[in-house]
Amino acid sequence: MTRLLHRSIHTPPRHAVSAQGLRFTDSEGHQYIDASGGAAVSCLGHAHPDVIAALHDQLDRLAYAHTGFFTTDVAEELAETLIADAPDGLSHVYLLSGGSEAIEAALKMARQYFTETGQPQRRHIIARRQSYHGNTLGALATGGNEWRRAQFKPLLMEAHHIAPCFAYREQHEGETDTDYAARAAGELEAKILELGADTVAAFVAEPVVGATAGAVPAVGDYFKRIRAICDKYGVLLILDEVMCGMGRTGSLYACEQDGISPDLLTIAKGLGGGYQPIGATLLSAKIYEAFAQGSGFFQHGHTYMGHPMAAAAGLAVQKVIRRDNLLANVQAMGAELRTQLHAAFGQHAHVGDIRGKGLFQAIELVADRQTKAPFDPAHKLHARIKSEALARGLMVYPMGGTIDGVRGDHVLLAPPFIVTPSDVTEIVGRLSEAVDAAL
Ligand code: PLP
Repeated sequence: MTRLLHRSIHTPPRHAVSAQGLRFTDSEGHQYIDASGGAAVSCLGHAHPDVIAALHDQLDRLAYAHTGFFTTDVAEELAETLIADAPDGLSHVYLLSGGSEAIEAALKMARQYFTETGQPQRRHIIARRQSYHGNTLGALATGGNEWRRAQFKPLLMEAHHIAPCFAYREQHEGETDTDYAARAAGELEAKILELGADTVAAFVAEPVVGATAGAVPAVGDYFKRIRAICDKYGVLLILDEVMCGMGRTGSLYACEQDGISPDLLTIAKGLGGGYQPIGATLLSAKIYEAFAQGSGFFQHGHTYMGHPMAAAAGLAVQKVIRRDNLLANVQAMGAELRTQLHAAFGQHAHVGDIRGKGLFQAIELVADRQTKAPFDPAHKLHARIKSEALARGLMVYPMGGTIDGVRGDHVLLAPPFIVTPSDVTEIVGRLSEAVDAAL
């Protein structure tokens, strides 16, 4: 008997009692290796002593202060730390409680920027199919996952969707990366012109698509082209790095590898590593100045924004990542993970693609490697892989079914940045057994 409404009523979750490093223990004494950081959250693993000490210290001093009355040292220092390493042009940080809140704030900042600067007709938001930006209504409307949106459509704001840059599924035979990047980015320009260039407020994209498509990076100069198109038409670029940001892909921000900076950047998950709920929207000096010289405030706010405990967790996690040079381990272990995934699945009859960046990797499962036909959603392959993996003491993040008619099941791996080569071997070995047992 449970009084909690769980994610699945028919398959209640196992009961976790403790976790240390990469390993969870449940109420029956079973151990699980955390190969997905939950949902790409736990970047330092569990029970990190420095983060625990920082949280104790903060709790002893000040647990909560409403941002309508006070700021705190810890929130100020976190903002300084984030901006010190942020992509060019980003100058301020708005602290929130998670990824969906960060996206909602980014959408509203984009809209308010245009009302403050005398372009109130700019209201359209363009995003991409097969994207996920969160489950609150604005974030859900922005995301391109039809299955998640379908029954809530009457409640959703209007948003427009173009194709993602998804080479495995959408690059034509013989088409170069450069040509495909131009074709995929060209969809944005066409959509802006269709809607009317002076009516579009923002374009939203994940630099590496996470949960919905499974660690899909763009190819070629796609994002450079996207940046240029946004600039050409005065459209703000919102990059959603809630899942792929904060070191997960081997650079602090995934967009660094694309050589571009957004106007607004959302982060969450790896920001606090799961030690507290925290998210943030980073905004450019241009947007900050529009607010500063206009109304003087951003018309938004949540009770728990800038929460000192959340900021303390975020600050401690970010300090450890920098002090221990963990990005180097993300790069090295990301390469190790890729090598081992290719060894285990490179010739597998039902693995069509192995992709990702850093410690953000996925395999895509297909019924037929030649045609790339996905499995029948009724097969529920992703759910079967999840349960076969758990039975083998492995936590991975499978998603699946056919969404928008083109995608098969995939398994996302996003282990903590402290993962070792022997952990990687254990993860890939157990995953290999789980996939074969589920097929
Ligand atoms: N944006 C992306 C890219 C995400 O992956 C997620 C969550 O998975 C969100 C936004 C929403 O974040 P949250 O679940 O913290 O609200």
